[in-house]
Amino acid sequence: MRKKNEDKYKQFSNELLDWYDVSRRDLPWRAAPGASSNPYFVLLSEIMLQQTVVTTVIPYFIRFINKWPKIIDLAQADFNEVSSLWAGLGYYRRAKNLHETAKILVKQHNGIIPNDEDVLLTFPGIGEYTAAAISAIAYDTKSNVVDGNIERIFSRLYKIEEPLELSKQKIRTLSKKYLPCKRNGDYAQALMDLGSSVCIPKAPRCQICPIISTCKLGGTPNAAMYPKRLPKKNKKQRYGVFYLLMDDEGSILFSTNKNEGIFANMDVLPSIGWNEENKKLESSPKIISKELALFNLNWEILEKKINHIFSHFKLNCTLVFFRIKKSTLNNLIIDKKYRFVKKTELNKLAKPSLIKKILDVFEEEIVK
Ligand code: SF4
Repeated sequence: MRKKNEDKYKQFSNELLDWYDVSRRDLPWRAAPGASSNPYFVLLSEIMLQQTVVTTVIPYFIRFINKWPKIIDLAQADFNEVSSLWAGLGYYRRAKNLHETAKILVKQHNGIIPNDEDVLLTFPGIGEYTAAAISAIAYDTKSNVVDGNIERIFSRLYKIEEPLELSKQKIRTLSKKYLPCKRNGDYAQALMDLGSSVCIPKAPRCQICPIISTCKLGGTPNAAMYPKRLPKKNKKQRYGVFYLLMDDEGSILFSTNKNEGIFANMDVLPSIGWNEENKKLESSPKIISKELALFNLNWEILEKKINHIFSHFKLNCTLVFFRIKKSTLNNLIIDKKYRFVKKTELNKLAKPSLIKKILDVFEEEIVK
């Protein structure tokens, strides 16, 4: 029986690797077939790929390696520049973690990325999955790499009836049995490619799947119903007011966040009501009350509202505007965390995509 199972696991990895050799995606962080990976490229791509899809990551990855071709270059970079190049990729704490990790690697490991998962886990922003992926892809170690794509494949392979939220450990135990004795980096990437191009969520393409012979759901109309999920809870709603204070030369008031919260280290417009520290609005305001009248100004509400979806809540944004004469600025009491940024300097800021979206609306509605 044991021998039979081992043959099954071997056949699975062989079929998958044969498929990978002809169908692999060409990605800028991947080594050419048979060549060794660049561990820095692997680390950088894996951190960028946390919560972000491959197509979004590719141009960011290329910009980063053009600017900082080696880990020592990234470690020596000014964080404002790192943050600025990261702008738009989301989950901004990753930029800070990446930069901190690069500095630790250069200072304590001679710029060499370790192949030990336990050591990788000690770096900022590197969790279980990322550590396993880096050590498998960069160094071919026998690491059990399990992301959402791979969970989907194994839940279909075994027709797992428990919801994914309750069967993650079971899937990890199963997937570990299939790890091959060599080409572990290719094997992990083969599973990732299979999950993103063949065993896809809504309409799995079983007819071209290299592992259909081992899959309990292969070719059945039920495959798309796996993994099973617990019933979805509705996303929580939050409400916020975003302020555009512009002087008569077109400069706009911004602040740079501390290394905490959703937009850690990013350049943002003043806002109230929605984030952890000042979450107090229960709905979108119809008027700007005294409490909401930042700097005691007579803000104008824009008719156009925008929404932004975060991973755990939906943000309803009310946009308000005030144009101020430079000569009257001294009369305002403005916290020193704020500064006016010239229009020509705006593109140098590290702006989250929400703030870009808001600036676009102001541009359309007000700033002609
Ligand atoms: S046979 Fe179909 S369901 Fe099974 S792993 Fe392949 S694509 Fe997924």
